[in-house]
Amino acid sequence: MLFVTVVAASEAAQSKRVKAIRIVKNFIGRFAGERVERAKCDMLSGMRSSEAVSLGRRAVIQSAFGAVGLGALSRGEARAEPRYADNGPIRAKDKLTITKLETILVKPRWLFLKIHTDAGIVGLGEPITEGRALTCAEAVKEIEPYLVGKDPRPVAKHWQAIYRHAFYRGGPILTSALSGIDQALWDIKGKALGVPVYELLGGPTRDRVRVYAHASTPEQMKTLQKQGFSAFKTGVAKNKTRRNRYIETQADIEYAAERFAALRQAMGKEVDIAIDFHGAISPATAKLLIKAYEPYQPMFIEEPCQAQNHDVMADIARGTFLPIATGERVFTKWGFREVLEKKAAVILQPDLCHAGGITEVRLIAGMAEAYYADVAPHNPLGPISLAAGVQLAASIPNFLCQEQVSLGEGYIKQPFQVRDGFLQLPTGPGLGIELDENAMADKIGHDWRNQESYDPEDNSVVDW
Ligand SMILES: [Mg+2]
Repeated sequence: MLFVTVVAASEAAQSKRVKAIRIVKNFIGRFAGERVERAKCDMLSGMRSSEAVSLGRRAVIQSAFGAVGLGALSRGEARAEPRYADNGPIRAKDKLTITKLETILVKPRWLFLKIHTDAGIVGLGEPITEGRALTCAEAVKEIEPYLVGKDPRPVAKHWQAIYRHAFYRGGPILTSALSGIDQALWDIKGKALGVPVYELLGGPTRDRVRVYAHASTPEQMKTLQKQGFSAFKTGVAKNKTRRNRYIETQADIEYAAERFAALRQAMGKEVDIAIDFHGAISPATAKLLIKAYEPYQPMFIEEPCQAQNHDVMADIARGTFLPIATGERVFTKWGFREVLEKKAAVILQPDLCHAGGITEVRLIAGMAEAYYADVAPHNPLGPISLAAGVQLAASIPNFLCQEQVSLGEGYIKQPFQVRDGFLQLPTGPGLGIELDENAMADKIGHDWRNQESYDPEDNSVVDW
């Protein structure tokens, strides 16, 4: 109680407060060693008296208890700002414990995860399958009891425990929950050590990270090009008569090819433009379309058919010289093993939020390297997913391009910036981003649902 009393005394007067801080610092120094000796005393001196007592008391209690191995005693207290930024890395032998997992629904359709620790470090992740945000939040909640009370830093061991102890392995929901948790654990580990995640993974393997943007018209691509993008992805253009038939008409195929030809003509042969089939086209029509696209050399053809039967995709791949890409609906190394072995694709698109997080996608990239395949991570999600992809890109040799739909404006304090088609490598610890809680205040909560699509001719269900 001595230090609590001493801190409270700082409310009396500025001179007394400074004296009290010195006493507290000495007290902590005796019991807590080098790490806690640098704790919040400096922070206290820069605040108004009332703020210092309110925040400082918690921080000092946490620091003192944590340093003497009693971190659990302070669990449940509101947390101060992360102390690593002011006080340097947390040494490997220092105690660090997970206290809570918190999920937040964020517009337009995302789910953010914060893993809290007794050191004030908060790890960020996106544990989501699009359209099943609430289900994923429940999956995270069911994993929380395993993690609370544990050291977050053995990331690969936690991955194994969460994946294998579930008994029923994989699937989009459980693997997405695991993916977001894995991102957050890497974020904590990097922040605890004061280095970017790619430094812990042997990187950087490159100086900057190429990204691509979505666009369907020459005007949209030109606008994005002015913003700094040099690679793009579009969809299969539909004319008014197209009916999602198993075999599309000659008019449908020619229309799609003509629209892509217009993009190529507007942007030139030096610009990379990929095409996403979304797995929503039959294998038979996919072959017709690919043949029609070949003269314009798209960067790659994505998901020419659904990814549940890799033999079918491999058959399509053998029929063209265009690179085939797949992976947004493939999970873990076991899923991608088949893609590679069957030669269904040469560009793998694991999603950092679905395929198993940073830990697993890095291993998938290693498997791809053995097949001379490249990795272009899928990402229609938020800035945490993008940050995880950037860290991955900076730690593997066979990276092609990173998908993105948001550079983080309105969500993170320093949004990513595109220059000459690339993002600069972040230099901050962990994932290298900080949420902008104020900017996010009007984006909390959503009820986004997957769209329903029906054939206009007979009302049967069709893919979208
Ligand atoms: Mg896709």
